[in-house]
Amino acid sequence: MSDQQELATLLAAVFPDADGAVTPPIVQTSLFTFDSYQSFEDRMAGRSDTAIYTRVENPTVAAFEKLMADAEHGEAAVGFASGMAAISSTILGFVKPGDRIACVENVYPDTYRFFERMLRPFGVHVDYHAPERFENDPDLLSNVTLAYLESPGSVVFEAMDLRRVADHAKRHNVLTMIDNSWASPVFQRPLTLGIDIVIHSASKYISGHSDTVAGVVVSSQGHIARIRDLTLPLLGAKLAPFEAFLLTRGLRTLHARMMQHQATANLFVDRLASLPQVRRVNSPGANAVPGLTGRSGLMSIEFDDSVDIAEFSDALTLFRLGVSWGGFESLILPARVGLAQAGEQNSMQKFGVSPNLVRLNLGLESAENLWADFRSALAKSTA
Ligand SMILES: *Cc1c(COP(=O)(O)O)cnc(C)c1O
Repeated sequence: MSDQQELATLLAAVFPDADGAVTPPIVQTSLFTFDSYQSFEDRMAGRSDTAIYTRVENPTVAAFEKLMADAEHGEAAVGFASGMAAISSTILGFVKPGDRIACVENVYPDTYRFFERMLRPFGVHVDYHAPERFENDPDLLSNVTLAYLESPGSVVFEAMDLRRVADHAKRHNVLTMIDNSWASPVFQRPLTLGIDIVIHSASKYISGHSDTVAGVVVSSQGHIARIRDLTLPLLGAKLAPFEAFLLTRGLRTLHARMMQHQATANLFVDRLASLPQVRRVNSPGANAVPGLTGRSGLMSIEFDDSVDIAEFSDALTLFRLGVSWGGFESLILPARVGLAQAGEQNSMQKFGVSPNLVRLNLGLESAENLWADFRSALAKSTA
């Protein structure tokens, strides 16, 4: 992540005539007019590159995209209306019927549903593999078009050696994409490890305030140009100027927030180890794999059968029940509620996730207060 100096410099470069304003203006317009027939014609013929229409480009969105490209050490970025819009628009930009995708197990549930319910009927094959197979089987990716990764993953947060996976993929000419929402660019920069495309649900740490739903993709000029040419304009799931403004605001405090999330998560991991009711803590930290430099505040815990998870959830006062994560407020998501969806064989059943699993989003409240709340709820709900 840029330091504040760089962030300010980058913003000033994107809005040179903002009259000294420290925050970027929200350019709330759908279209941009031209001052002459000639300039309009030049733009449409590709001889200039000013903005035409906000579905495709907008200065407030462009400022956020530039900051994200910088944060992830990529060449370019493109914003989307949601993390899922970023994921689906990026994948659809690079696969066609008959192609094969290798996806990591325990992928974000709606990404799994996108593969199963939308891509499969269009003739795209998707296979799911444990993270260690991506690392250890150099030929897993032969005959594959795209490797779709999360590291750390959703649900049980398995981390993989991304450089190794990227090396195997390059040997087979396979495009690699990773959902880097968990680590944020503060704790992991996959492009520097050889991964081709980084995707974020910006609704989480990048926004940081649980007040917007958005997504962003960072990659090389070439890959981003392809998305801008194809799925951004034609699916049209663009990032709105106001949302981009909120995300730029979030980026200012991203580094500081991640440090605070990490400190709280470290405290929890240390103390959880001594609780008899806790079977497993899923929370990779700094250097769990090469290139991962910190522990974020999203973790899962597997209790033993002595804990009544409904009672535990209701007894918590600082952790509220809900989906999503990455904001100020701490949250709990019991797996049997959060991963169950009526009428489908969901990823929890498919990949054998324990029904005793709960996901915690450790927010920015005092770590000691959060721990006291956790301990007290556990005492009330243990048989
Ligand atoms: C929330 C989330 C998404 C989806 O993002 P939205 O902004 O909700 O569309 C994708 N991946 C991960 C890991 C997430 O947590």
